[in-house]
Amino acid sequence: MLQLRPNCECCNKDLPNESLDARICTFECTFCSDCAASKLQGICPNCGGELVVRPRRPADKLARYPASTERVFKPGGQTGHGMNSSPPFLSSVSSVSSVVSSRGGVPRVEGSLPPHQRLLIS
Ligand SMILES: [Zn+2]
Ligand SMILES: [Zn+2]
Repeated sequence: MLQLRPNCECCNKDLPNESLDARICTFECTFCSDCAASKLQGICPNCGGELVVRPRRPADKLARYPASTERVFKPGGQTGHGMNSSPPFLSSVSSVSSVVSSRGGVPRVEGSLPPHQRLLIS
């Protein structure tokens, strides 16, 4: 569930649930449309991901699933998943690929190969 953070991380502008100006990345770093368009050029400064329009939560759902009231404001730009440390999703990708290559030989991608190539591998 989205946290629906109440403000822009960059300029601290209020971004309530109903706001059409809220932009978020996949980690839910939250920015206003001004910062996203001008300073950030549509890219999250924390993780490098794309910033997209945050969907608004319908009012009847908001009563049951309230928005976060925890303000995140980082004028300097870095957050917990900042670019200085390797993001978790990157390290997991590299470990997966090393497992595949350590098996040696042809990477087995059955199902994506035509039938005659599948026969050659097995
Ligand atoms: Zn802003
Ligand atoms: Zn981010």
